[in-house]
Amino acid sequence: MRPPLLRIPYTQPLPPPTILPPSANTLEGAVSALHRFLLAPSANLNSKTAILTGAGLSVASGLADYRGTKGTYRVNKTYRPIYYHEFITSHQARKRYWARSFLGWPSFNKAQPNASHNAIRDLGKTGLISSVITQNVDSFHPRAHPDLKTLELHGYLRAAKCVSCGAEVDRDEFQRDLARLNPLWSAFLEEVLATGALETENPEEMRKRGIRLNPDGDVEVPDAPYSTFRYPACPKCLAKPPDTVMAGDGEAKRGVVEVDADGAWGGNSNAGILKPGVVLFGENIASSVKEAAEAAIDASGKLLVLGTSLATYSAWRLAKRAKDYGMPIAVINMGGVRGEEVFFQDLNPAQDGRLGVRSEVAAEQLLPALVQRIR
Ligand SMILES: [Zn+2]
Repeated sequence: MRPPLLRIPYTQPLPPPTILPPSANTLEGAVSALHRFLLAPSANLNSKTAILTGAGLSVASGLADYRGTKGTYRVNKTYRPIYYHEFITSHQARKRYWARSFLGWPSFNKAQPNASHNAIRDLGKTGLISSVITQNVDSFHPRAHPDLKTLELHGYLRAAKCVSCGAEVDRDEFQRDLARLNPLWSAFLEEVLATGALETENPEEMRKRGIRLNPDGDVEVPDAPYSTFRYPACPKCLAKPPDTVMAGDGEAKRGVVEVDADGAWGGNSNAGILKPGVVLFGENIASSVKEAAEAAIDASGKLLVLGTSLATYSAWRLAKRAKDYGMPIAVINMGGVRGEEVFFQDLNPAQDGRLGVRSEVAAEQLLPALVQRIR
């Protein structure tokens, strides 16, 4: 049996890339190289290109990236992503998570797909793209190009999901429950929203004010009283608790779901916990998703990597899989990419992009220009 696939952040610094072909260091050169890459016939039966994207693609929508342009992990003293084990086992950790998510949701929900997502939609219409695999949880891909298949490797924030029964609750509906259960937090959120401090239209301004809307949709507020935050139980499990749940010691117990007078999860509950629909750090990616991602690579002839340093192993191994099949690979990312020397080391330095491209030109400029060139 193969080991489970966990979502784990890779925090080592990454070396700067070698631009390939060297002319791809300008917008014009990168457009030409990527144009040749997409149109080149492939040794594989299918010459279509699979696209693999990450947080860098959503920066132009006002969401933060995990890494800076020099490929170093952004060290933020107050920010630490929650791990799956912590979420599942700690009521306090869940309060903190949902409080931050509550504050982040209105801005996150308002953020829109950008020129890169729209260009991918247009590229999809040319028939050159097989499918999109994304690590992003912002739903921008399915929103921008519903007709071009998207596989969300790390899930999505648009729903909360019950850990016990798998039922999903729409995130907007969940937000209304959180507001009702936490009137003081709700008033604070209204106040902050009124100042415009959470406006995503101007990421620079947000940074200046010390507010970070993280890629997973949460907001940090230093010294906030997280322990007062309340969150609802899964409505399905509340109506009918599961017959058995696995306790921490591996023993099966009867499921208990208790709520207070307002409907907040607590008491002797051991089930009905709602979790974000994302794959948290340290959590297994569902085998169905893992297999679908592998199938998407296998059904393609080339791979285009956009806006990701492939820091999570689940994404890196897909690029490695494409390389192992001998597929041409293009990487458009500001800053270094994990293990990228493996992708390009055997390339003839004189090749013009047909066999591989490496560029740091911003995707939101490059992709629309590429669409113009192809039309
Ligand atoms: Zn449930």
